[in-house]
Parts: sequence; structure tokens; C-alpha cells
Amino acid sequence: MARQHFLVVAYPGQGHINPARALAARLARATGAHVTLSVAVSAHRRMFPSLAAPDEEVHDADAGGGGISYVPYSDGYDEGFRLFASDGEAAWRHSETFGRVGREAFAGVVDRLAARGRPATCVVYAFLMWWAADVARERGIPRVLYWIQPATMLAVYYHYLHGLEELVTEHAGEPEFTVDMPGLPPMAIRDLPSFFTDLADTRLAAAFHGVRTTIEQLDIDRRSSSKPPMVLVNTVEELELDVLAASFPDLDILPIGPAATSLDGGGAAAAARASHDLYRHDEKGYMEWLAAKPAGSVVYVSLGSMSVVSRRQKEELRRGLAATARPYLWVVRSDDRDDGDGDGDGGGMVVEWCDQVRVLSHGAVGCFVTHCGWNSTLEAVACGAPMVAVPQWSDQDTNARLVAGWGVGVRAATGADRVVEAGELARCVETVMADTEAAAAVRRSSAAWKAKVREAVAEGGSSDRNLKAFLDRIANVA
Ligand code: UDP
Repeated sequence: MARQHFLVVAYPGQGHINPARALAARLARATGAHVTLSVAVSAHRRMFPSLAAPDEEVHDADAGGGGISYVPYSDGYDEGFRLFASDGEAAWRHSETFGRVGREAFAGVVDRLAARGRPATCVVYAFLMWWAADVARERGIPRVLYWIQPATMLAVYYHYLHGLEELVTEHAGEPEFTVDMPGLPPMAIRDLPSFFTDLADTRLAAAFHGVRTTIEQLDIDRRSSSKPPMVLVNTVEELELDVLAASFPDLDILPIGPAATSLDGGGAAAAARASHDLYRHDEKGYMEWLAAKPAGSVVYVSLGSMSVVSRRQKEELRRGLAATARPYLWVVRSDDRDDGDGDGDGGGMVVEWCDQVRVLSHGAVGCFVTHCGWNSTLEAVACGAPMVAVPQWSDQDTNARLVAGWGVGVRAATGADRVVEAGELARCVETVMADTEAAAAVRRSSAAWKAKVREAVAEGGSSDRNLKAFLDRIANVA
């Protein structure tokens, strides 16, 4: 195989960077190739806080193969952008600037690499990085979309944008109304992404623009080539067999997940990854705390890297956890803290950020109360941790439906304000943790899916084969 240089480009959020880093590491190890990972300056600075110059390139020679270089692009928001701390106008401004400045800066990255005699031979553009596909196309560089949500979600967006937008919008206020989409079971409005249903929040319309333009890139590539566009999906074939078989006749879909570094590497790799998160890891000794707890006894709670959890929701969570009388480990990020959030009320420990995959892999964890961000969902499946789904926005309602469908968790009921009340939370936790036949069935499904997912990433498993198929295809294009 000719020497490749993969250029992976990702949006500056933790849920985007994690699967991008994991894929970059796998590409480096599998091919011996050099991989460059490009994230926005705002994230690069947080990942590497002690560089002599803040936007300096970083080379990680220990990542396997030819190593991974981190080369940032500016998206015009070098101090970062927080969607939920903005209004609709600011969100649209961000979307426009991100598209314009990011694209130009990324073109500069691509041209600099070429000028140094190390041209990218394949651009892997992750979700929302639509302009990176444009930049690659203009230069004749092979490109592949890296879809970091489930294949179900790709199918939902694809069909929505190819004929169903009007129907869905018309029924946006009817949670039980169902929509038929090829390859999918009937989808209730309540199971569709909040972009389609929460029409009052103009920030969501701005955020959805990036999804729309990402899907459009596939249409452009489909029209201009006789071969179907390639899409790497961070999912596992066995988890989404039906949708993969029936939904994408004109795409070349390759499920290669789960892409999570510490699932691959363990020890040193996990430690290296943890030291480059966007949030600083809490030093409270949560792993030691977990080690002192009985097997399957702890409720782990995290609503991800972006959510803003209301005071009322936190209060309901606190009371709900207390009602279960089970020990809990709860992540409350420093940028989502209200007064008093730091205390664990005796029964639990509250941390600012943790190594989630290590926590989920720990035998003491018996349940994961999660917002169902796709990384968290897939990590929980890979670790066999039963879930209580508390979806907040974006793809999370759809992911929660998948969780329930696989029998690996339950979805908590909410009111119109999306708040899960204490009693409902406690009920759901007991539904997966109690000493009942129903809870034992959830634990059995979780263990069975864990085994299948581990098989998929092992040598010869579906994800391993699909990654190799991708490498063959790219070798033949280049
Ligand atoms: N995560 C972590 N420590 C924490 C909380 C989250 O390492 O304390 C990681 C988690 O393992 C996952 C990512 O942050 O890989 C969050 O991505 P996800 O898609 O679940 O949600 P998002 O943050 O994008 O909403």
C-alpha cells in the first residue's frame, strides 16, 4: 500500500474529538501511516495547555505508526463558543463565521502540509466539518465522511433532508405522531432529534445548519462520482443491522466503532488520552472510591460535555439519587456548576470530570444515568453498563430509543420542560439495578451486547474488517 497521510478534522467539542482521536490512533497503528488531527484552536489550547506558543503543532510519536500530529485551524472563535450560553443571533453568527473562517484556515493547513512535502492523501472529515470536504474536493484529495453518531441517525437526517422535512415540521408538536422512513421502524416525533421538534429555539436551527451542510456534501460527491461516497460510522454493524442493510443504497457505509481510545489501548494509551481532554480530570480519587464499593452497586451520572443542567433538574437528580440509597458518582463540570453542587450528600461523590471509560469499565458501576450522547451510549454498551436515559437535545432522543430497543436500559419520562423528576429517576434506576427479574434481564442484555461489541473490534470482527476494507478502498483511489 502506498504511504498514506490521513488528515482527520473534527469540531472542537469533546464528543467530536474523542472519536476522532480514537480513529486517528487506529489508522496510525493499522497502516504505519502518519496521521494529522486538526481541531479548532479553542480546543487545541485546552488539550495542550502548556505549549510555548498556544497554537503550536504537537507531535505524538508514541501513538503508533508514523505518529499523530496535532495541527489546529482557527474557526474564528479561538476562545471557544458555547451554544447554550448564546442566543439565536449569536448562534447564527457562529455558524456563518465557523463556515467562512474555518474553511479558509483549514485550506491553509492542507496547503502547508503539501508545501512541506507531506501532502494529505485522504481527508477524513468528521460530522459538521462540511467545508473540509469542499477543501479536499477542490484539491482533488480523496475524502471520507466520519459519521460519529449512529447509522440510524444518519438515515433519519438523510431521509428528513430528502423529502420528509415538510411532513415532520407539520407534526413537530405531536410527540406520538409516527413517520415512516426507509429501513427504519416507524419513528415517533418524540424519538427524532430536537432540531426537528424544538422549533422555538433558534439556536437549534443555527446548529442544524452544520448537519444539513454535512449531508449535502454526500449529495455533491454522489453526483460527481460513479462510486458511492464512503462514510465511516462510529457504530457496530451488529447493533444496527437492519438500518445498515436497508437505508443507504447510494452510500458506501463502513461501521468501524466503537471508537474510544481507552477501549483500544488500556493503560498507557488511556493515561495519555486522559491528559489531553478539554476538561481537567478531578483529583478526588474517584477510582479508589469506586474500588471500595461492592460490585454493581454504584450509579454513575453524567450528562456530557455540553449540556447545561438547570438548578431544578440538579435538585431532582439529587433527591432521586438519595431516594435510591445507592452510592453515586456524579460529574458536574466546572462550567455547569451552581452553588452547593460540589457536595455529595454523604452517599455519593461529585467530580468535575473523570475518565469515563475507566469508570464505566469498573465492576462497581451498576448503572449509568446518561444524556445519551452517542459516545457515552456506545461506551456504556461496550462496557456492559445498563443505562437510564435522560436525553437533552440533538440526537439524544433517538439514541435513547436505541438503548431501550437493545434492552440495555430504560428511558426516563419527562414533562414538557424535559426535567426528570426525582421519583421517576429513582424508579428507572431500580428498573435496571434492583433484584428483580426485569432488572436481571437488562443486565443480561448489557452483558451480551458488551461481548458482541468486543468481538466486533477484535481481529477479524466486523469493525476490524470494515476498517481494513476502508484502507483497501483508499489505497485504490490514491
Ligand atoms: N467524558 C469523560 N469524562 C466525563 C464526562 C464525559 O471522559 O466526566 C467523555 C465521554 O467518555 C464521551 C464524551 O466525553 O466520550 C462525551 O461525548 P458524548 O457524545 O457522550 O456527549 P456530548 O458531550 O458530545 O454531549
